[in-house]
Order: sequence, then structure tokens, then C-alpha cells
Amino acid sequence: MSAPRSQITNWAGNVTFGSPRVHRPGSVDELRRLVRDSARIRALGSGHSFNLVADSDQDLVRLDGLPEETVIDAGNSTVTVTAGTRYAELVTALDAEGFALANLASLPHISVAGSCATGTHGSGDGQRCLSAAVRAVQLVGPDGGLSWLSRDADPGVFPGVVVALGALGIVTRLSLEVEPAFEMFQEVRVGVPLEEAADHVDDVFGAAYSVSLFTDWRDEGVVWFKQRADRPGAGWDGGRPAQRPMHPVPGMSTESSTEQMGVVGPWHERLPHFRPGLEPSGAGEELQSELYVPREYARDAFTALRGIGRLVAPVLHTAEVRTVRADDLWLSPAHGRDCVAFHFTWVKDLAAVTPVLAAVEERLLPLGARPHWGKLTTTAAPDIAAMYERAADFARLMRDLDPTGKFRNAFVDGLFPLG
Ligand SMILES: Cc1cc2nc3c(=O)[nH]c(=O)nc-3n(C[C@H](O)[C@H](O)[C@H](O)COP(=O)(O)OP(=O)(O)OC[C@H]3O[C@@H](n4cnc5c(N)ncnc54)[C@H](O)[C@@H]3O)c2cc1C
Repeated sequence: MSAPRSQITNWAGNVTFGSPRVHRPGSVDELRRLVRDSARIRALGSGHSFNLVADSDQDLVRLDGLPEETVIDAGNSTVTVTAGTRYAELVTALDAEGFALANLASLPHISVAGSCATGTHGSGDGQRCLSAAVRAVQLVGPDGGLSWLSRDADPGVFPGVVVALGALGIVTRLSLEVEPAFEMFQEVRVGVPLEEAADHVDDVFGAAYSVSLFTDWRDEGVVWFKQRADRPGAGWDGGRPAQRPMHPVPGMSTESSTEQMGVVGPWHERLPHFRPGLEPSGAGEELQSELYVPREYARDAFTALRGIGRLVAPVLHTAEVRTVRADDLWLSPAHGRDCVAFHFTWVKDLAAVTPVLAAVEERLLPLGARPHWGKLTTTAAPDIAAMYERAADFARLMRDLDPTGKFRNAFVDGLFPLG
């Protein structure tokens, strides 16, 4: 089934896709024929990226019309899901069967394939990005052929296949690592002086399974500690305990926030900031950017951002600091190094935000920061590609799997020019 061009935008509405045709096949066979017969085609996930990473100048395909499958292989500790599945659906199905994922992003309403294609992450000193949980992917290649690539069978190329920005083919299924379901609780501390957090980065972020610090980069922060009930962390006593539930953005209704105040509950209702069953209100009224700084420069990054706090705060809804463990995925922003990720949820005013984002990047890029693939950046594409040691290997893999460039778009061409 295909629809004519309409004004298809991303979730935030800040970019409009240029594709003249958007398709929503109802079967994998229909998808394969579509790919075979198209000159250029790209997949669109749930459209939560803030740039044109998903765009296509010809065909765009959504996978949320494919029959949904969630197959748990308890013996191998994996779940295999249809690519268009959103984490919000997957986590409920997994928990019902007694399984869990190790990590989740702040918002569970994003698609599995789209999240894994951009290196989406949650937080935790021990937690890698969501893409690192992928054991195997099933791809439709340029001739419509269907094949599986896996960490076990294809160790030489698999680390290049997962965070692939949609450039290697259309992912139809993914197998993800699972573990036994666990329970968690959240405790929030407010009034945490930023100077104190900067001086104690290891203590703050090592205090729980998953930790997020929210701030406007002026003086203070609010820290969410997500503890596993079966192995509570050391805790940290900076600031003071929150007296009521919080939303990541000060003043917003907490209706969609996951439960806090130490109440124990299932992993999937504590790890994200937002409830799987309820999309946050005010959805789309924001822009986002994020920079992954090598862990050893966390303190320098705190100092740099505090130095421009009064410039940043007026155009900010909130900023968040999280940690991401290193992985081996060629295009993962955490490739080869533990990171502290500095995220910004900006007001939806690109003209006002752009110079402030440039000021942020001017300070963090010299520390070795890499921008999030799915968010805004002022950095030129060739400079971003140069941040990745395995960029040339990825370009080679693209040529091997997609010799005619069927899955390329302007975003990918900017990073990895043809020829
Ligand atoms: C409110 C909000 C909260 C967010 N929270 C976080 C967070 O906590 N942590 C974080 O790291 N990021 C976060 N993000 C960013 C988000 O996770 C990424 O932008 C992610 O890529 C979104 O997934 P998507 O399915 O919407 O992908 P899309 O934006 O639709 O696509 C992203 C890329 O994936 C590719 N793709 C999608 N499906 C397929 C497929 N089937 N086959 C091949 N390629 C495919 C597309 O071609 C494109 O290149 C957030 C975004 C929003 C709007």
C-alpha cells in the first residue's frame, strides 16, 4: 500500500521529509518487491529524530504495517521483534513473560529499528546504548533479498551493521538480548549544586543502576536515581530528597512521569522517564541536541557548560546528563569509550537555539564530543565522520551491501561521499 506525497514531518514537526512517496507494506514480501523496484528507498521509524537522517528523495517506507511478531527464545536469552515495533509495546510483552531489557531510553514510544540505527541510549555506568543489545538483524537488501547478519556468524562486519543510519538496507527484524525481569524504584534529589556534582561525577553516576541529572546549567540540578530492587546501589546524599514526584521539565504535569518516591515496580515502568502507556503531553514542542563526551572529560564539560549557563537557560526546557558504557559498534557515539552524554531539550525556536547550540559545541567538541545521530548539531558532516575511527570500514560495508547506493540519502552522502 502506498500513499502519495503529503506533508510528512518528524515527531517534532521541525523537518518535512522530501520523499514523493511514502509506503506502508502489509507483508515482508510486499516490502521486498517495493525495495527491488525502487531506485532509492529509506525506512522511516517512528520519526522521533530531529533531523533528516531518515529522509529519502524517492521512496520512504514505514514498517509499522507489517504483522507484529515478538518471539522470545529463553534458551538463548533473546527476543526477536518486527523492526517497526515500539519499545512501549515490546517492554509490556517482555515483562508479561518474565523478561527484561537491560536499558531503555527516556521515552519508550520510539521504534526499535530507528533507535538502534542511531545509537539511542539510556543511562547507567554499566549500561551500553540500546543498539549494543542487538544480536542479529534481518535486512532487505537492494535486490529485495532477505538475509540475517548476526554477532555470532558475522563477527567481522556485525559491529558496522547495527548503528547504520538506515544506509545498509531495510531492517525487518532484530534479535535483542534479554534477561530475567527485575524490579526497580526511583528516588529523586533536588537542589544539588552543580559544582558538587562535577566534583563527584563517579559518586553521583555510580550511585544507582541508572542515573540522570537534570539542570538548566545555572546553579543546581535534580538527580533521578533508578535503583534495581535486587541490587540497590550505594546512593548519594547531595542535595535533599524530593517531596513530590517530578517531571524532567520543571513545572510540567507529572501524569506521564514514571513512578518515583521509592515505590518499587517493574523495570519497564521505572527505567524510562515516561510511562509506556501514556505519551507525555506537550509532545513535539521542543528541539533536542546531545553530545557524548569521553568520561574522563566530564568535569571539564560541567565547567564549560556552567560557564555559559546564563546563555543556555533562556532557550532551554531542560538539560540532562547521563552516562553510557563503551561499545564496539563502529558508528556508535560511545564507540570505544565510556561517555557522559550532555543532552539539551530546547524551546522550539531554531533561530534562537542555533547560536546557543553552536556555543555549546564550541566548548564540548574540543573535549572529543560526538553528536547524537538523531538530534540537531551545527557540526559539518565531514567533521562528524572524522570523529569515528571505523568510518572508512563503514563506507566500505555500504559499498559491499549496497553497491548502487539505493539506501543512501543526502544525510549519508554528506558523511560518506560516493566514490
Ligand atoms: C521525546 C524524545 C525523547 C528521546 N529520548 C532519547 C533518549 O532518551 N536517548 C537517546 O539516545 N535518544 C533519544 N531520542 C532520540 C531518538 O531515540 C532517536 O532519534 C531515534 O532514532 C528515534 O527512533 P525512530 O524510530 O523515531 O527513528 P527515525 O527518526 O524514524 O529514524 C532514525 C533512523 O533510523 C532508520 N531506520 C528506522 N527504521 C529503520 C528500518 N526498519 N531499517 C533501517 N533503518 C531504519 C532511519 O532510516 C533513520 O536513519 C529521543 C527523541 C525524542 C523525540
